[in-house]
Amino acid sequence: MGKYAALVDVSRCTACRGCQIACKQWNELPGEKTINLGTYQNPPDLSVTTFTLVRFKEISDKGELRWNFFKDQCRHCLEPPCKEAADMAVKGAIIQDENGCVLFTEKTRLLDIREIREACPYDIPRQDPNTKIMDKCTFCADRIANGMIPACIKACPTGTLTFGPRDKILQMANKRLGEVKKHFPLARLIDKDDVSWLYLLHLPQVEFQMTARAKGPVTLARRAFMKPFRALVTGMALVGSVAIHSDSSRE
Ligand code: SF4
Ligand code: SF4
Repeated sequence: MGKYAALVDVSRCTACRGCQIACKQWNELPGEKTINLGTYQNPPDLSVTTFTLVRFKEISDKGELRWNFFKDQCRHCLEPPCKEAADMAVKGAIIQDENGCVLFTEKTRLLDIREIREACPYDIPRQDPNTKIMDKCTFCADRIANGMIPACIKACPTGTLTFGPRDKILQMANKRLGEVKKHFPLARLIDKDDVSWLYLLHLPQVEFQMTARAKGPVTLARRAFMKPFRALVTGMALVGSVAIHSDSSRE
């Protein structure tokens, strides 16, 4: 269970991208050379040198134009599916610290990026093409461990991003949800029981630019549903292997 949480109140984001810059500065990540793809979203996607990205989407609705912004990064799942997948192949490649921050280590170079990316319900992990090491947002684990708030949250000038003890952030998120619902009845909190980064979306999810493979709630729900069956299959496999082992030990 995460000790801390962050709230992203998407209804307040102005896409100033101070969070993107602060992340690059704190983590000493280089800029990326990009080309204009007809959008202000820049760079075009997350990468091992871009841990957080403000995604842009234009919506035209009955003559009204809406420009929606969505700050994307690792949600620091409470029971991270990426770690679950990694543990099956290389123990310790993905770890979770005492504050709930999910961290990729250098051992990720031994993992299959397709499996780890497929395991993530939000399509977050990225791989360095040269070193094969995977990377992503760390929740500024080093800052949190030293009593500071994550760099992106400190930089946000609009109150979109808030950080604190999980119970306080949940309380604040529910209160804010009530306020936002007065103007946006479909507003909701995304996956609040599963992740440390809570998102308050004031509009339906399809109105935001997310990667085609970002699966979110559906996958988390399905994984929870499948958990007992996976345990059963693993148990049966273990019994099978013990049986085979004891048979072979008689040879
Ligand atoms: S969002 Fe993806 S990369 Fe981040 S902890 Fe969850 S599964 Fe892992
Ligand atoms: S710093 Fe805050 S307002 Fe600016 S883009 Fe990031 S989340 Fe949005």
